[in-house]
Formats: sequence, structure tokens, C-alpha cells
Amino acid sequence: RQQGTIAPEALQEIDLTQLLQELAHHQIEHNTDKQSFTVDLPPYSVKVLADASLIQQAVMNLLDNAFKYTPSGGKIQLRLTTQSRWAVIEVEDSGIGIPAEDLPHVFERFYRVDTERARKNGGFGLGLAIAQQLVEAHGGQISVSSTYTQGSTFTIKLPL
Ligand code: ATP
Ligand code: MG
Repeated sequence: RQQGTIAPEALQEIDLTQLLQELAHHQIEHNTDKQSFTVDLPPYSVKVLADASLIQQAVMNLLDNAFKYTPSGGKIQLRLTTQSRWAVIEVEDSGIGIPAEDLPHVFERFYRVDTERARKNGGFGLGLAIAQQLVEAHGGQISVSSTYTQGSTFTIKLPL
């Protein structure tokens, strides 16, 4: 088995629509109401071959960041769509954003953008590195687009 791939016996056909619905419920229950949170899921099942708990972990890491780096009054959106052969999960926030020069590095282990936000928000700089490993182990891709001070969108693509 190639290193960094999931053992075939751990892969199951999972319904991403349902998994994200459950994750969103959990997030809403624990939301302290400082930001608005909206969830946009298709009215049908999106099936992928995956280890459900690992995909959940990857998406949780993105949601955790979105809430952590978005001030009160901001907006966070979780979306699921399909694009040809991919399931596409997007976590979009209207938060503090990431400077262009840091953007290529945010998936590196222990990389944190600046000391001020690092001090305020705890953390090790591992969440995105872990999310990337989990997604790539499923044959997927993770990417980011962000405008400093305006917000960020993280996208996970998983093969259908
Ligand atoms: P950890 O996830 O280990 O608790 P962390 O959140 O600092 O710590 P990552 O999740 O890997 O680490 O993110 C790396 C850095 O990228 C963060 O320190 C933060 O500066 C920046 N970042 C990540 N997500 C966002 C976001 N949604 N908005 C703004 N900056 C972000
Ligand atoms: Mg994080």
C-alpha cells in the first residue's frame, strides 16, 4: 500500500450530505451566536468512498478555523456541491483573511500567520496540515483562496 493512503478496509460508501448535516447540527448546538452560520446542502445524497471519521476531522478543522478567525457579526458558510467527478465542500468566512505572502504556506505543519493572531488564538498550526493529509489520503485536494481583511474560502474536493 502506498504511504499516506487509507487502508482499503477502512473505506466505506458514505453519504457526505448526511455527514455534513450532522456536523452542522453539532456546530449550531455549540455555537455561541457571535457569527452567523449557514449551511447549503444539496437535496440528494452525495456518496464517496471514505473513512467517515477522517473526513469529519478534516472538515471540523476548517470550521474550527472559520469560527476562530471570524470576529463577532461575521458570516460563515458551509456548502456541498458536485462538479463533474468531484464532491466539493466549501467553508467560507468573512473573517480576518490571510495575507497573500502567507497563503502558500498555511498547509505547512506549525505554520501560523502572525504572532499577534497566534498569541490571541492558541493552537499549534497543525489543523490545516492534518486536514490536507486526510484529504490527500482519500485521493482528494484541498485549496484556499483568501483576501486579507475580507475573508477566506477553503475547498475540499473528494473523488465521487
Ligand atoms: P491549530 O489548528 O493547530 O489549533 P491553527 O488554527 O493556528 O492551530 P491551522 O489551522 O493549521 O493552525 O492554520 C494555520 C494558520 O492559517 C493559522 O494560524 C491562521 O493564521 C491561518 N488561518 C487558517 N484558517 C484561517 C481562516 N479561516 N481565516 C484566517 N486565517 C486562517
Ligand atoms: Mg486551526
